[in-house]
Amino acid sequence: MPMPADATVPFRFVLVRTAHPGNIGSTARAMRTMGFTRLELVAPARFPDPQATAMAAGADAVLALAGVHADMVAGLAGCSMAIGLSARRRGVALPEWSPREGAQQALAAAARGEQVALVFGNERTGLENSELAHCHGMVRIPSVDDFSSLNLAQAVQVMAYEMRLAMLATVPPAPPAPVGEPLADAVKMEQFFTHLEQTLDDIDFHKGRPPAVVVLRLRKLFQRSQMDERELRILHGILADAQRMARLAGVTGKRADAG
Ligand code: SAH
Repeated sequence: MPMPADATVPFRFVLVRTAHPGNIGSTARAMRTMGFTRLELVAPARFPDPQATAMAAGADAVLALAGVHADMVAGLAGCSMAIGLSARRRGVALPEWSPREGAQQALAAAARGEQVALVFGNERTGLENSELAHCHGMVRIPSVDDFSSLNLAQAVQVMAYEMRLAMLATVPPAPPAPVGEPLADAVKMEQFFTHLEQTLDDIDFHKGRPPAVVVLRLRKLFQRSQMDERELRILHGILADAQRMARLAGVTGKRADAG
């Protein structure tokens, strides 16, 4: 019986740039054994694919309902909490959790009514810094230093198992208290970052320096703060005013002509 991949499912597993379709199938199986059904694929090399179906070993419903997305923001739509799994620290200033702590964080967020993504990287390159920048925390499975990288689907299995253990240990929570303002999801955050980058150009903040480093730092800063939609509206307002003042002052940022 297919299970709907709808917004009432609090947890999703997100595979980013998966190279081998067999790993997608094994992931579906690993998830299904632990009671998880929502799989989102970001830019998979091949999907659907007979190897995925073969490795799913009957967890076909998970594959049938899997979403396929061009980028991470689309795969994280609706989520206000994303946990990235990485074999290595990458100099990203994110809280680092064990799988057990990560599962607790995920359940706590779900109990607050948030949707949570568990994000896994490409088999060879893992999660890039720019991909981890969409995450609020990082889980490292404590493997040995000189051979730290698990097979993708096996990493999914470890995390799904920890999630299941945590759920079995939890008394079903009372329905979440009505919250005031919803937290900004990945799509709203991305709109804000786009506006922020435009504004930095418009006020000529970079002055010829390459923008990439400062932009990544600012992304991390705002990502950490888990803003709600009202706070985001205020920041959009400030940026719009800064853009207006820059136009009035005739600052010639790179995109001043873009309006
Ligand atoms: N060489 C890559 C490993 C990629 S393995 C790297 O160093 O990151 C594919 C994916 O499996 C990773 O992106 C990660 O999501 C997951 N994974 C593998 N080993 C892991 C570990 N020890 N801890 C957490 N996630 C791991």
